[in-house]
Amino acid sequence: MTGAASVGACLDAARAALPRLEAELLAARALDVTASALYAFPERPASAARSACLRALVTRRRRGEPVAYILGQWEFWSLPIKVDARALIPRPETEGLVAAALERTGPAPRVLDLGTGCGAIALAIAAERPAAAVLGVDNDPACLALARENAQRLGSTAAFQHSHWYAGIASEFDVIVSNPPYVAAGDPHLTRGDLRFEPKSALVGGADGLAALRSVVGGAAPHLASDGWLIVEHGCDQGGHTRRLFSDAGFAKVTTLQDAAGLPRVTLGRRS
Ligand code: GLN
Repeated sequence: MTGAASVGACLDAARAALPRLEAELLAARALDVTASALYAFPERPASAARSACLRALVTRRRRGEPVAYILGQWEFWSLPIKVDARALIPRPETEGLVAAALERTGPAPRVLDLGTGCGAIALAIAAERPAAAVLGVDNDPACLALARENAQRLGSTAAFQHSHWYAGIASEFDVIVSNPPYVAAGDPHLTRGDLRFEPKSALVGGADGLAALRSVVGGAAPHLASDGWLIVEHGCDQGGHTRRLFSDAGFAKVTTLQDAAGLPRVTLGRRS
């Protein structure tokens, strides 16, 4: 009989197979301890069942499955967001879009999040602006179910509704935000890394990656208050194209913001 493994030995085995952060996240989950306890109490025993669970999670990750999907939860804007293969995994770049929206709103804005997916953007804005009226829409009922589940778990005031872009939207908003699918259909990144596991409908924006951005930007004005803002995320090589879409749609103060890596990532404009 092999003695019970220790937390430290399990962590070491995971770290030999995966990057450190990934190993820590999976070990903390499988061994049911906090990330700091992994290092503070390495001598604690880990049951055979827990160490086998960790090996299974490491194997899934080694086969490519995103850590966020393995954990079933991912942090966005310091909120624990439930995630699974129904929706895109919220990314740190998108926190820049949230920050840009918050900088341009008063205490009680009416906010529309188009293509909300797991609801991350809408939930983050609602968390920061308790008096806001935040509506997230998605064309995919599976995403709406996930977003509503997240709202319930977080006790959020954000509401979610079915709509293909603006098709089901009658009201007016102070801010419209969107992280639409913006990867070009033939982009080789779709066959690599986490993107292989995420829904294509959340990633692919037509042949040139701009199809959804055209719908979001082109249809915004009738749904925006007269000084309202449209704020969208896009690919790092789509800043010029996106600014052009904004200008063609009559937006003023059109600006592109960079992400933490210094890449053009978010474009915004004011309805004039
Ligand atoms: N930022 C994602 C990626 O390229 C794409 C997200 C999207 O299409 N909205 O990894």
